[in-house]
Amino acid sequence: MTRSPALRVRMISAALAVFATGLGGLVSGRLPGQDPLQGSGPVIRLSYRALQPGEPVLVFLESDGTVRSASVTFLGRTAELRPAPGGGSVFAFLGIDLQTEPGPASMTIKVHKPGGLVENIRKDLVVVERKFPSTKLQFKPEYVTPPASMQERIKREAELVALAMSVVTPEWLGEGPFAAPHDAATWENFGQRRLNNSVLQSLHTGLDIRVPFGEPIRASNAGAVVMASSLYFGGKTVIIDHGLGVFSTYGHMSELLVKRGETVKKGQTVGLCGSTGRSTGPHLHWSFKIFDTRVDPEAMLRLPLGPT
Ligand SMILES: [Zn+2]
Repeated sequence: MTRSPALRVRMISAALAVFATGLGGLVSGRLPGQDPLQGSGPVIRLSYRALQPGEPVLVFLESDGTVRSASVTFLGRTAELRPAPGGGSVFAFLGIDLQTEPGPASMTIKVHKPGGLVENIRKDLVVVERKFPSTKLQFKPEYVTPPASMQERIKREAELVALAMSVVTPEWLGEGPFAAPHDAATWENFGQRRLNNSVLQSLHTGLDIRVPFGEPIRASNAGAVVMASSLYFGGKTVIIDHGLGVFSTYGHMSELLVKRGETVKKGQTVGLCGSTGRSTGPHLHWSFKIFDTRVDPEAMLRLPLGPT
């Protein structure tokens, strides 16, 4: 994809006019048969940092008033487009999971118009390989090979976490762009392949922040608390539903300061930093899911979600 500002390229396969800006991934297309230079017809705009594993993608449809509803399907997942902040358009969040195989991936936007008319707009995209770091970690043996007595608990907790993030709130609950939960530096370890005691055991699906013990951890955005529990691996953990299938998670805390079911504002303290669960020292484990895709928290911070 071109990154030259204001450069327009006609995509023959999709019969769409596409342009990209220097923002790192802004693609617009109009419905086939419409002149992109004229101001009529729905306009599709994609916003992303990169089309790579672990990256979120925003899909905007600027309505000309003829759109009844719309949905987008990408990498096997379908999301409904819902009113975007600021009005005038509908939008959806999608994610390219951390373990997505690079290669061609088409996106289909289905637009329902009056009179039962349905327009299918296809965009042919390519997921580009991303290299992730790897590391060796030394944990207490019971966290690498948990005792048999803990297997039930671990399984149950995994199910509860999955359940908490399985319900999609059909509206955006956020207040402007996402913000970091603390301003300390990170370990830049999203997607890290982990050899625990020399056994390739896990992928690091979040980002670790070097927060000192006891400091407040703030909600990245407004939403509803869907979990505030002490987990075997994650330690004291809060999960916030931001709507539209987006969930943020804060782990290893020493104290939980919110309860399940509570609504939180952006920047509200949800807990205090700690080292509970499978942790080698005080830090915050911060992660995001968009539906079932695991995406990079740093990329979430860059999504254009309007003024705060
Ligand atoms: Zn972590």
